Amino acid sequence: MNSSFKFMSIRGIDLRIHLTFPLILIWAAFQYGAAAGNATTGAIFGVVVILLLFVLVTLHELGHSFAAQYYGVPVKQIVLLPIGGLAQMAQIPENPKQEFVISVAGPAVNVVMAVLMGAMILVFNIPLTAPFTGISLTFAVIFSYIFYYNIMLALFNLLPAFPMDGGRIFRALLAMKLSYTTATLIAGNVGRALAVAMGLYGLLNGGIFLMLIALFIFSGASQEMMMVQFQQRKRRGEIPTHVYLMPGHMVQEVYSPHALVLNPNDSLEQAMQVRMQGIQNNFPVTQDGRYLGFVTEAGLVNAYKQYGPDVMVYAAMSPAIKPVSLATDLVEALRRMDTWQVDALPVTDNGRLLGMITRQQITALARTHQPWPDSPETARI
Ligand SMILES: [Zn+2]
Repeated sequence: MNSSFKFMSIRGIDLRIHLTFPLILIWAAFQYGAAAGNATTGAIFGVVVILLLFVLVTLHELGHSFAAQYYGVPVKQIVLLPIGGLAQMAQIPENPKQEFVISVAGPAVNVVMAVLMGAMILVFNIPLTAPFTGISLTFAVIFSYIFYYNIMLALFNLLPAFPMDGGRIFRALLAMKLSYTTATLIAGNVGRALAVAMGLYGLLNGGIFLMLIALFIFSGASQEMMMVQFQQRKRRGEIPTHVYLMPGHMVQEVYSPHALVLNPNDSLEQAMQVRMQGIQNNFPVTQDGRYLGFVTEAGLVNAYKQYGPDVMVYAAMSPAIKPVSLATDLVEALRRMDTWQVDALPVTDNGRLLGMITRQQITALARTHQPWPDSPETARI
């Protein structure tokens, strides 16, 4: 990702700033510059408080990240965007307790900081009305801002608007009673409804950030809902591999050139012994490299039972199974495996055996190309 640059790294987590991040500083400089008596002081003030706000956002994200690391979930990076921070981590296992703790950890950082600052406010007698009396670069005003920002960050993130923290906590609580999929669908729909309300409110009041966040929530909720539904269908075996295997991949990308082969003069007993080595279940039959036919596991076992050990492997060949070429599309190869009910096919070129391709090899490739990998990264704000 070149749209952001790294400025530091903590516990293996890269902290990055998105290229659009300065926009919020420019916005703050103008906003506070216009509001203050002195435009320059106002602009500096705006930049300072927004930078401090993002320090708090970073600490919030680190709260999530450290909790995730505690459960062994890898955290790749934290990216600071104008609308907030994103911690990108591997998706956590469907474990409501872990999700609960990881989601609570972010807002908890802000709550703890707000409490500490509340104590300092009491001890040093800092007037909490300071931010409302005017924009000035005094300790009291800036300190009060940080205090309020912490409360704001905690409350805002705890809104039950999935995939925001509150929504994830809500989902985790639901998932303790319901299935993970149902819990996600309920939390996701609540999140989308709140996003629509938020977006409308932003639209009517000219709140551009609110609209952006609403959009983020709506698309994030929709995406996660689709993902859990997809994974549920996949788990139930309702989605054959070729649906999520992108077309355009060919046999030559994954086939194995080192296949154990049988000789047409081998006996079924010898073939059974080769099978017992456990390396392969299906065997091409060749003579001097020339492809003669294919023996499947079921074909071999049946022939052995029917004709006994001394008959030649010819008896076990399945003439219906045709070889594929290096240029055969993997989707097509899978379709043929389904039709012929085998897990492997011979690969030939001009009648000569090149090797074999297995269902496993195709599935392994599909896994790296499917729309949602088994453990996608999730972003949390
Ligand atoms: Zn958060």
